[in-house]
Amino acid sequence: MEVSEANDESFGIEVIPTEDGKPAPCCPHGPTLLFEKVGKGGEKGRRFYACSACRDRKDCNFFQWEEEKVSEVRLLAREAENQSKRPVFTQQENCSRFRKFSSLPLDEKKFCQDCQMLLLPGEHEAHSSHRTTAVSTDQLRRPSVLLRPLDNKKSNAQYLFTDRSSHFLLDTLAGLGYRKVLCVGTPRLQELIKLRNLEQKHEPMKSLLLDIDFRYTQFYSQDEFCHYNMFNHHFFDGEASGAVLQAFLTECDGQKVVMVADPPFGGLVKPLASSFSLISHTWRKLQSSDCSNTDIPMMWIFPYFFEPRILECLPSFTMLDYQVDYDNHPLYKHGKTGRKQSPVRLFTNISPRDVVLPKDEGYRFCSVCQRFVLSLNKHCAKCNVCPSKDGREWKHCSMCEKCVKPSWRHCQRCGRCALPDHKCGQGEGQEGCFNCGSLEHKRKACPLKDTHRISHRSNAKSGGKRVSHRPLLKPKAKRKSGAARRAKKLAALPK
Ligand code: SAH
Ligand code: ZN
Ligand code: ZN
Ligand code: ZN
Ligand code: ZN
Repeated sequence: MEVSEANDESFGIEVIPTEDGKPAPCCPHGPTLLFEKVGKGGEKGRRFYACSACRDRKDCNFFQWEEEKVSEVRLLAREAENQSKRPVFTQQENCSRFRKFSSLPLDEKKFCQDCQMLLLPGEHEAHSSHRTTAVSTDQLRRPSVLLRPLDNKKSNAQYLFTDRSSHFLLDTLAGLGYRKVLCVGTPRLQELIKLRNLEQKHEPMKSLLLDIDFRYTQFYSQDEFCHYNMFNHHFFDGEASGAVLQAFLTECDGQKVVMVADPPFGGLVKPLASSFSLISHTWRKLQSSDCSNTDIPMMWIFPYFFEPRILECLPSFTMLDYQVDYDNHPLYKHGKTGRKQSPVRLFTNISPRDVVLPKDEGYRFCSVCQRFVLSLNKHCAKCNVCPSKDGREWKHCSMCEKCVKPSWRHCQRCGRCALPDHKCGQGEGQEGCFNCGSLEHKRKACPLKDTHRISHRSNAKSGGKRVSHRPLLKPKAKRKSGAARRAKKLAALPK
């Protein structure tokens, strides 16, 4: 599988690291990324800049060929467009609005559902034809419940942790001695941290949320929220936010920092890994003791079939068996009660044996692997690992000399294990999931089926979907090739 996945990178769309001194043009989401279409035989296509954050042209239609000369007029228009996409209120304004709002009597506290904003008394009139709701003190403390989860399937769907998962994360991190949590795309975790501090039963923890959803600026102060794009490490408020992050990453009084990121699943793994590495670099420079080669402790939450991709970028990481699940995602539920198992896992550089997974949810400790695994994930003496990735019990194939999924059978003709109904005689890797691109299952079994298609193979895939909306790159004759098909099908989507 590793081999075929690597081969697969040879076609599709790749993200090209930009050279220093050649800044990428900016769209409303900050610096764009440079992409290159790569043909099946390895022939390189033209390079172009496109939005780092949006997978759908409807959300951001920025497009520019690498060598394209852009006229002064167009540059100005672009600049004006970028400006016009800025939030209406600055973060400072929002902070003072929040203070005013908090001091209002209960019957004047209103939230406009249509505009997704807290309303001050003078604004009620203007929103009188909109749907508004009263806001209790408790609701004000739970913005992730008050705000409608973004459900833009293509760029920015928000999937919020269940209580089970968010409490597990927080208990684990607190238990490991962390006192500051950098929440990257995890608004519900930040919220839980603040709620817990109010209870005063635990040692207080600090948190800073970095997220592209600026509706959250309405609820948090400047040192609690930065409007941030994790695909290009862009802070929309520039230096000011950079300083907030630096201050947060500074570990004074022994307050250890940990970072938790839950990016959209359609995300490009490489750009994410490089943003996270930049955060780690900032953290490292602030360390007083010698940490020249340590990284910031981190948990990156992502589906298990991204494991090869993530480990390629961050080799010191381990994927844990813990299944993360989400409130507003019917398919990402915990498996124990007979519901579907979530394919979402924790990838971490924290020592796996320290991350204790709950016994009552079916996890046990494997003393050979030195990590907690699902009970069904039996240790294989031949492979010397607990091999299961998907939560089912895998079995060893002596011909393949590795453990495989229980549904696979060894095929003499192909010389490998495959699903019984695989297209016999076709090379490995030609028959991945039509929906998400994973080679581990077919579309019928896709855990993401009918929810949103995700772009699975980091750069190659997520770029693929781009093809579908760039007229010049639209696959025509090649419609039947895997790449073209995926390009069309993979309207990349985050969770
Ligand atoms: N499970 C998390 C939410 C994850 S959903 C929780 O319960 O807290 C993905 C999150 O990433 C959302 O909050 C979304 O707003 C944010 N996000 C999406 N694209 C982003 C980007 N380009 N940069 C930063 N944050 C982004
Ligand atoms: Zn309104
Ligand atoms: Zn085995
Ligand atoms: Zn086999
Ligand atoms: Zn799939």
